Amino acid sequence: MPAVLRVALPVPLPGLFDYLPPTVGAACVGSRVLVPFGRHKLVGMVVAIDAEAAVGSSRLKQVLRLLDDGALLDPELMQTLAWAADYWLGAPGEAYANALPLALREAKPLPPIGDEYWSLSGAGRSAHDAGSRRGGSKALLGLLAAGALSAQDLSERQPGWREAARRLAAAGLLERSERPPPDRSSPPSLAPQLSDEQQQAVVTVGASLGQYQPFLLDGVTGSGKTEVYLALIEQVLAQGRQALLLVPEIGLAPQTVRRLRERLGVIVEVLHSNLSEGDRARAWLRARAGSARVILGTRSAVFTPLPQAGLIIVDEEHDSAYKQQEGFRYHARDLALVRARALGVPVLLGSGTPSLESLANAEAGRYRTLHLRARPGAIRPPQVQIIDMRAQRLEHGMSPALLGAVADTVARGEQALVFRNRRGYAPVLLCHACGWHAGCPRCDRPLTLHAGRRQLICHHCDYRQRVPAACPTCGAGDLKPQGQGTERLEEALLAQFPQVPVLRVDRETTRRRDAFEQLLATLRDDQPAILVGTQMLAKGHDLPNLTLVAIVGVDEGLHSIDFRAGERLAQLVVQVAGRAGRARKPGRVVLQTHQPEHPLLRSLLAHGYAAAARELLAERRLIQLPPYSYQVLLRAEAPQREQVDAFLAAAHAALPVNAQLQIAGPMSAPMPLRAGRHRGQLLLEAASRRTLHGMLRSWQLALIALPSARKVRWSLDVDPIDLY
Ligand code: ADP
Ligand code: ZN
Ligand code: ZN
Repeated sequence: MPAVLRVALPVPLPGLFDYLPPTVGAACVGSRVLVPFGRHKLVGMVVAIDAEAAVGSSRLKQVLRLLDDGALLDPELMQTLAWAADYWLGAPGEAYANALPLALREAKPLPPIGDEYWSLSGAGRSAHDAGSRRGGSKALLGLLAAGALSAQDLSERQPGWREAARRLAAAGLLERSERPPPDRSSPPSLAPQLSDEQQQAVVTVGASLGQYQPFLLDGVTGSGKTEVYLALIEQVLAQGRQALLLVPEIGLAPQTVRRLRERLGVIVEVLHSNLSEGDRARAWLRARAGSARVILGTRSAVFTPLPQAGLIIVDEEHDSAYKQQEGFRYHARDLALVRARALGVPVLLGSGTPSLESLANAEAGRYRTLHLRARPGAIRPPQVQIIDMRAQRLEHGMSPALLGAVADTVARGEQALVFRNRRGYAPVLLCHACGWHAGCPRCDRPLTLHAGRRQLICHHCDYRQRVPAACPTCGAGDLKPQGQGTERLEEALLAQFPQVPVLRVDRETTRRRDAFEQLLATLRDDQPAILVGTQMLAKGHDLPNLTLVAIVGVDEGLHSIDFRAGERLAQLVVQVAGRAGRARKPGRVVLQTHQPEHPLLRSLLAHGYAAAARELLAERRLIQLPPYSYQVLLRAEAPQREQVDAFLAAAHAALPVNAQLQIAGPMSAPMPLRAGRHRGQLLLEAASRRTLHGMLRSWQLALIALPSARKVRWSLDVDPIDLY
């Protein structure tokens, strides 16, 4: 019997594909192969080698080419990926595809892993001396005039430099070279004297190095978590091991990279989706080779090979950005735990507002909790006040008390943050004469008015239209914006405080990658200013002169039908409030609401996040919701409602009879129409994970075989984090 290779292919089908070994070379588990698939050629991953084929080997095709002599993925990653594909019901090939940087999913040899350097050619030097170029090109020539720089340095000094580099290289003015990465980039800088709590945390986690143990580091923003990470990473480096630090967003990455590099004095490899594909592959391969010691990255960096793993850290572990919401729907925090166990290393989950899942795990004794209660540097925690908005005269949604607080703050020469988690000018445009409002024809939801761009935009599907001059139903010219978005607040604050700079920070004003940092950099530490923005402002960049956080409205979060809305709201409020008074000046938080008596707000403001979270957890336990039960959501969408209904009915009928299984639906999705497609869902719940997982694979196969499945787009979401 010839050996047969079981190959995972990047196609959305469960299962592996059998091939005969290539004529040249010996494939092993974890090496990539190029195989024929239908009329295409695909790059796949050898997952197993068997003596016998599942079908007669005479019908098997042969691998076209072996791409790796050895294994590209080590046994730990292979095993973890197989586990992940199984747990989140992914197609195995999709799981492997997620794990590999794009450049490594192609049938090409591995790129060299030296550092990429750029320097001026002779012609480039002349061009620099002549000062003949403009804009980005001129700036880049100027930067390189003093000597060659690495790509990483260039990214830090001139974001977006690659385009200019390409132009200049094509004109023969720049040269690219490859050098081996240096060992230490600079001498490490001095760490501050750790507080007792920080020291305690470092000692406790440090004692677990070399074995699996999850820790929850519970400390508000500014309490010094990053210093704890740094001290632990130093220990890990001293043992000759690698550390992986996950962050939820790249927005947080540049400052963190700088801080890590300065403190540790080593290269910090960065892995996130905005990196060029070449850089990403290089960083990944260096981690695999063990030459990258500290790896910082967003969600997908959880797949980084760590042959000398020492520690995994997940910062802001509660952040929903860790969950991939399409394709292979994995959760990077959960996967980090699985990897830490397989690697035999501690895993540290940090947050000022831990997820209820993690709190429940800590409560059950599965995680050990470490607290950072004091904020080094700050005198005392911010003072929080609720403003009752009922029966108040509002100025574009802002009460006199809120505006008064802003006025006091800027009069003292300090800065205020006005928070509203809605982009645009107003969430609704209403006809005052007949009651018509502008709605999205494809989603059946109100369009958001963006006044500056004179557009109505759907925030669900991005449908756009011009703002009509008159009501399309009754012809009246009396169209009134209802409610407030950040754009409207900016306008109102500019009118109220003409002498103070007003800065708006939301996705609209920071569409460019580095715009956020640049915008905040224009704020002088000793000058008054008003920041208006969405949750983008909840984190990043330390603003020592920011002493007031004014929360304009969060009432939507109190009415949402999603059972996680309360948790999200509490996290958001605490994160935003944490921006006030980070330095020596005391901070103040005002929150205006129409529901000053709401129990969640009350307990949050009176007793803090931990108490609010305890109450939310007690509620979840009482009504048996996650984390005290387990869910799987089947979503389906199609151009016609009947197609969705037919599929979900058949899916329902295909479920095994099991008294332990609770079924909700089939039903419409909370957004029944989106981007012109009808949507529905079926929710499965069980008190035990095993009950649920025991039936999922066979149900998934049954769904694939359903004739009605061909008319819909459907997906299974294990442990969904929202029910939309
Ligand atoms: P977090 O990661 O929890 O937001 P950081 O570690 O960034 O907190 O610390 C917040 C600020 O306090 C930073 O400017 C940091 O340099 C400073 N800091 C942290 N720990 C100490 C300490 N033990 N002594 C002095 N300053 C500290
Ligand atoms: Zn009208
Ligand atoms: Zn829409």
